Amino acid sequence: MTSPSDFEGVPRIGLGTDLHRLVPGRTCILGGIVFDECPVGPDGHSDGDAVLHAVTDALLGAAGLDDLGTLFPDDREANRDRPSAEFVAEACRRLQLARLAPLSIDIAIQCDRPKIAPRRAEIRAAIARLVVLPVDRINVKGKTFEGLRATDPEIVSVVAVVLVG
Ligand code: MG
Repeated sequence: MTSPSDFEGVPRIGLGTDLHRLVPGRTCILGGIVFDECPVGPDGHSDGDAVLHAVTDALLGAAGLDDLGTLFPDDREANRDRPSAEFVAEACRRLQLARLAPLSIDIAIQCDRPKIAPRRAEIRAAIARLVVLPVDRINVKGKTFEGLRATDPEIVSVVAVVLVG
């Protein structure tokens, strides 16, 4: 039989995914970075930042805590247009209370627009600042739908994996 103390100090992995429609008239914010030139942005109750939502869920999941939707319900007025950076900050605070901290994050962002690659370094730096990790502990890659996605609705889909210890 194993006891909880057998796992003391052993890193834990967390997975987060998210998907938002990309629609005209919404600020395009992904990974905490605004893509001014993009004519569509993630729809949502908060600012719609699917990257930070996936990261938040991965952080919370690794720590065995409640998920994003439970902590920040999208039917609460207080969460309307809320900056998703606040969700990441709250997840980090809860990790700290559980005596845990993020060790590394890997993120895949899938969308046909905006183009992620030219802003990759900025996204890595923004997330590194949010979770207080060196930039080389955060990785971000942009993927397209290779022309296979349905044209309507247009979406952004994100997968984030986090190591927590
Ligand atoms: Mg979301």
